[in-house]
Amino acid sequence: MILRLYNTFSKKVEEFEPLKPGKVKLYSCGPTVYSHAHIGNFRSFLVADILKRFLEFKGFAVTHIMNITDVGHLLDDADEGADKLEEAARRQKKDPLEIAGMYTDSFMASSKLLNIKPANHYPKATEHIDDMIKMVETLVEKGFGYIVGGNVYYDVTKFADYGKLSGNTLDDLNAGARIEVNEEKKNPQDFALWKHDPRHIQQWDSPWGRGFPGWHIECSAMSTKYLGPQFDLHTGGEDNIFPHHECEIAQTEGATGKKWVNYWVHTRFLLVDGEKMSKSKGNLYTIPELIEKGFKKNAIRYALISSHYRQNYNFTFDGLKAAEQAIDKINQCVFTLGEIAKIQNDQAVSDGVKSLIDKSLAAFDEALCDDLNISKALGAVFDFIREANKLEDVSPSEAAALIGAIEKIDSVLGVIEKSSDDVPDEIIKLAAERKQAKLDKNWQRADEIRDEVTAKGFVIEDMPGHEYRIKRKEG
Ligand SMILES: [Zn+2]
Repeated sequence: MILRLYNTFSKKVEEFEPLKPGKVKLYSCGPTVYSHAHIGNFRSFLVADILKRFLEFKGFAVTHIMNITDVGHLLDDADEGADKLEEAARRQKKDPLEIAGMYTDSFMASSKLLNIKPANHYPKATEHIDDMIKMVETLVEKGFGYIVGGNVYYDVTKFADYGKLSGNTLDDLNAGARIEVNEEKKNPQDFALWKHDPRHIQQWDSPWGRGFPGWHIECSAMSTKYLGPQFDLHTGGEDNIFPHHECEIAQTEGATGKKWVNYWVHTRFLLVDGEKMSKSKGNLYTIPELIEKGFKKNAIRYALISSHYRQNYNFTFDGLKAAEQAIDKINQCVFTLGEIAKIQNDQAVSDGVKSLIDKSLAAFDEALCDDLNISKALGAVFDFIREANKLEDVSPSEAAALIGAIEKIDSVLGVIEKSSDDVPDEIIKLAAERKQAKLDKNWQRADEIRDEVTAKGFVIEDMPGHEYRIKRKEG
């Protein structure tokens, strides 16, 4: 089955066909590292993760680049306001690079908690200033860029397709433009490629004097450096469509003269308890905050991936609890099958089990091929679990085959807890001792061992029939 995706550029669901058979190049706008990324940001990063994992599930080799913005992202879209990062640095009385380092670490740690597959590379804006300068020079040479004082602006009237991605026309934009027009700009919608501002802390030499790059040029320069002048997929949040991605297209296609990205995938906003996220409402939850509240990391991942990316997702604590129960259903099934699969046996897998597996994998594939219809895909997963639970006299080889299929599905979902291969012998012994203590009804000893294991960073979870599993403590 061929993957079909909604392309923001064509505003249609299209069949996905990569430039090179079997290979996909994917670019995602990454975080601006001036604060902790919140669940809304991560929903968008998780959509990119599901898309990438599903492409891999379908056999594509994916090269994924995600940038880290550590300079040039201003508070205001109209090239005004302070640099978000420098503002944070001033407030916290720290160096901008220290701020960037701190929040990049925080972003990476939360990505890991959410089991997001790492990108092949995370280029930082401050380490690619030369590439940006080169692209701005090209844009000036080709007549798209113009210099005023130490600033370089992009003349949007020179790029015929400006507005195509967002559906904005220059007339509409100009009609809605604010009154305080920047006198330096030829057109109100022109945007900065390079900025001169003596108050800015991070500055670099350029052909136009000391300054710093505009936010949009970073993604054009870094994506083409690592993926080439043309690639398959570009993702981001819906707030990136305009002006960020519109400007990225104008810059890159202006500089290269080629069609740049074939498919644009944008994730809709996340709501919290039905409301927009905002600092004043205190609902900009971060991943560590939710873990601190006692929620499991894989439940947070499940909740954030569980609705269609082109619909607003309403995040609630009840939704997180439901996610925990959903994952438990999958884990219980895998655990029960795992107990059977442990027994040695070379019996053939029956046709009934084979066809259940084929049918379930096909239904999962078909759902995600339908513009990543995750609700339908999860429906297929739970139909599969329900039917697997109903099977009688499952042989060890059948159990292993069923687990294999669930793991294949989980290569996309990424929510099943992996059995901890890395549990030290000491903990394994303690857990066995605790099981014996419970069988002996020595509850006090059982509790003591549980506390000891917890203190060593592990958790024993009880399963049916005096069985248990050991996991590393989260957070
Ligand atoms: Zn970007």
